[in-house]
Amino acid sequence: MNLYYNKSERVTVERHSERGVYDRETIDSILDEGFVAHLGIVSDGQPFVLPVLYARDGNSIYVHGSPLSRLLGTVASSVPVCLTVTLVDGLVLARSAFKHSVNYRSVVVLGDGSEITEAGRKQHALRRVVDQVVRGRSEDVRGPSDGELKATEVVEIAIREASAKVRTGPPLDSAKDRKLAAWAGELPLRVVSGDPIPDADCEVEPPDYVVAYTR
Ligand SMILES: Cc1cc2nc3c(=O)[nH]c(=O)nc-3n(C[C@H](O)[C@H](O)[C@H](O)COP(=O)(O)OP(=O)(O)OC[C@H]3O[C@@H](n4cnc5c(N)ncnc54)[C@H](O)[C@@H]3O)c2cc1C
Repeated sequence: MNLYYNKSERVTVERHSERGVYDRETIDSILDEGFVAHLGIVSDGQPFVLPVLYARDGNSIYVHGSPLSRLLGTVASSVPVCLTVTLVDGLVLARSAFKHSVNYRSVVVLGDGSEITEAGRKQHALRRVVDQVVRGRSEDVRGPSDGELKATEVVEIAIREASAKVRTGPPLDSAKDRKLAAWAGELPLRVVSGDPIPDADCEVEPPDYVVAYTR
């Protein structure tokens, strides 16, 4: 397997180039930790960037939705797309407003999409999307019926080029500002789940992936 996706000029990080990361292991780990992506297309000359659930499977990303969706219809027609995944790891509070920042890991993918029509591949892609959100969930639930499958469009985006950008560490105040009395430092953030709320008529004990949900 290649160690990198295509590290082309247009996915080379210019601003804070030291934060650019291009190895597949890093890119895939960010894509695998997230489950919400922002998918960008140009439709009739107008850019639209919309949030979607997704799953990564090797060199591909699956997205799904209504066959009536403009977003999916456009993505399926082989036009170039840009998909971004962002993980916010913390707030970076500096002594100057200017130097405030966030610690993050993000990925930008450039690729093109095609509709998956074969029922077996569609089922596979949909299971991957369910499991990207809650690992192991697809084993426990009824899969889509033929009618539900027909009512769902599934699009595969081939990852053609990709970059990651990662910021870690403390605020970067100037030596002069470091003498100011304002609190400064990092405030780590993470995704935590609350207590599960069983649906009415649900008499099944919550499984581990619900009770101990982590990303
Ligand atoms: C949570 C978060 C908040 C941010 N807030 C701001 C903000 O308020 N203002 C601001 O200016 N910037 C912010 N950034 C950084 C922003 O994403 C861009 O990296 C930055 O604005 C530089 O843009 P540019 O067009 O000059 O990028 P360039 O460096 O010219 O981009 C060239 C290529 O580098 C890659 N690249 C650029 N940025 C990223 C990225 N974030 N992740 C993965 N690949 C990337 C892409 O492939 C892109 O095509 C934020 C990033 C994150 C993750």
